[in-house]
Order: sequence, then structure tokens, then C-alpha cells
Amino acid sequence: MMKKTVALLVVACILCVLLTGCAPKQAENEFFAMDTVMKLTAYGKNGQEAVEAAEDEIIRLDALLSISSETSEVAAVNADGGGTLSEETSALIRRAEGFYRETGGAFDITVYPLVDAWGFYTEMYKVPSPAELANCLERTGGDKLQLDGNVLSFLESGMAIDLGGIAKGYASDRVCAICKEYGVKSAIITLGGNVYAIGTRPDGTPWKVAIQDPTDPAAYAGVLELEDKAAVTSGAYERYFEEDGVRYHHIINPKTGYPAESGLASVTIVSADGTMADALSTALFVMGKDTALDYWRQHSSEFDAVLVTDTGAVTVTRGIADCFSTTDGSPFEVAE
Ligand code: AMP
Ligand code: MG
Repeated sequence: MMKKTVALLVVACILCVLLTGCAPKQAENEFFAMDTVMKLTAYGKNGQEAVEAAEDEIIRLDALLSISSETSEVAAVNADGGGTLSEETSALIRRAEGFYRETGGAFDITVYPLVDAWGFYTEMYKVPSPAELANCLERTGGDKLQLDGNVLSFLESGMAIDLGGIAKGYASDRVCAICKEYGVKSAIITLGGNVYAIGTRPDGTPWKVAIQDPTDPAAYAGVLELEDKAAVTSGAYERYFEEDGVRYHHIINPKTGYPAESGLASVTIVSADGTMADALSTALFVMGKDTALDYWRQHSSEFDAVLVTDTGAVTVTRGIADCFSTTDGSPFEVAE
């Protein structure tokens, strides 16, 4: 009897050692930054060090790029009507300018006066009058922005920039770089609607990233299987207010000054370039389905997309069609 018990204990101990030995170490870090909840999970050696360094980096970027922090570089140029920026902030603005040109102005960091007029910064929401919007539109437009080296100038008075449509994507790229520096081969980074899947899951299978159903916060429109890719979603459901039964959301069409009414309820961009994925999720949302798909056809080597229309119809571009599935098995369109 005694021998049997000892034998069982030995087997239990061996199993225990084997199981804990096999399970990779998991490090998790959850915090609030850039106006959203951030969750970093890394597996294996150096995971803890990586997620701690990543949090420091995100906090540094928030302090540099935020429009609300009075000490940020972006807040300073907005308050001063221009000025000299760091190399890093200049480089990000230069990328934003590139997306402005490539997307025909759908992505435009000079939307600040418009976003402000709708009350999205202060949460004192209101529908601006046509005259107010016309005034804001005079102070909007990437062509009225000039970046000469690291010196930013506004060509109209009362202009300001908002990097909210691209900063989290840039932060995800920086986190990704930090994870690589620490030798982390498996991690999942969630910065609000910006996800970066680093490597695979610890068991070697792809990460699964769910896309929210824009019409039902409790449901998913589908799931993507990803490896070393960012998946960034812009959705009308993320931030909005209602007045007289009309819903007004936070993604502004820089040409009209109104929240984009393009027939799309959400756009998810999949790309190894998180900064690009972030800028394009906003831009393709503004463009609407047909123009968005035309844009994709010209840049299909750089990114893929999942488009969900106001009526819930799902279109997935060819490059990720095999990585996408709807949760209820309902059919979806594949764009070629
Ligand atoms: P996202 O959630 O990435 O689509 O970014 C939306 C945020 O970007 C908004 O909350 C605004 O701060 C800003 N934004 C709104 N419309 C635009 C636009 N057309 N181009 C660039 N940034 C925008
Ligand atoms: Mg964006």
C-alpha cells in the first residue's frame, strides 16, 4: 500500500514537472493609455521584460503624440500654430502626409477643427451648424500643412493636427520591434481596436483575432487567423453620440465635415505594417466599399481588408480569404 502511494506520488510529481515545464511562461500587462485599454501578452523567455519595456514605450509615445497632454509635441504645435518637432514625430507626420496623398484626402490629420466642432475631444457632443462646419473646412486639408525638415507650419490660422487615426498603429509597430529585440516569438498586442499578432500562439498555431459585429457589440462578424500581422479596425460603433434619433460617429469625412456616411459600418485592415493598417482603416472607412476595393486592388501586396457594410454584409479581400471565417458559417463575399 505504502509503495503504491509513493509510486503514485512520484508519477504525479513527474507529470507536474513535465506539464509546467512544457507550458510556456506567460507575461501579461494591462493599462490605460492613448484613450484606450491596452493589453500586452507575451510568451516564453524575456516576456515579462518585453511587456514592461513595451508599456514604457507606449507611455512615452502617448506623452509625445497626444493632443490632450499639454506637454506633448503635438499639443505644443497645435497651441503655437506650428513649430519644431522631434525627428520621430516629424517622421510619423510625414507618413500621415503620404497617406493623405495616396488616399485622395480620405486620411487627413488636419481634421482636428472638425472633430472638435462635433465635441469628440471634450465629450460635449453637438451637431455643428453648416456655417460652423464651413468655417472649420477652411482650416482643414493636408495641403495646408507644411513640414520642412522638422519644422511644421500651418498655412491657415486656427489649424491643428490629430494623430488619433495613426498613433496606435505606430505604437503597435514599436511594441512589435521591442518584442523582437527581447527575442519574444509569441505575443498578442491589443491597443484598443489595434491588434498585432506576433509570431504564432505558443502551440505553433496562428493567432485568432475576432472582428466585432458592428451592429451587435456582443457578437462577432468573423475571425481572422494571423501570424506576424496587424489587424486594425475602424468602426462607426467605437465612438458616437445620438441626437434626434440620428447617430453621429467619430470618423469624419474631411471633404464634407460630417461623420463619413459611406455605407460601411467597419473596416479591418490586415498588414505587417501596423502604422499603415491604422491609417488605412480610417481612410477606407471614409472611402466606402467600391473606392476602398479599388484602392486595395492598387495596393494588394501591402495589405488586405475585411469590410462590413451598414446592412451587415461582409467582404474579404483575396489575400486573407482563407484566413477568415464567419462565426456562424454565414457566407461572405471575396473581392478579387
Ligand atoms: P480610427 O479609430 O483609427 O479610425 O481613428 C479615428 C480617430 O482619428 C478619430 O477619433 C479622430 O481623432 C481621427 N480622425 C477622424 N477622422 C479622420 C480622418 N478622416 N483622417 C484622419 N484622422 C481622422
Ligand atoms: Mg486608424
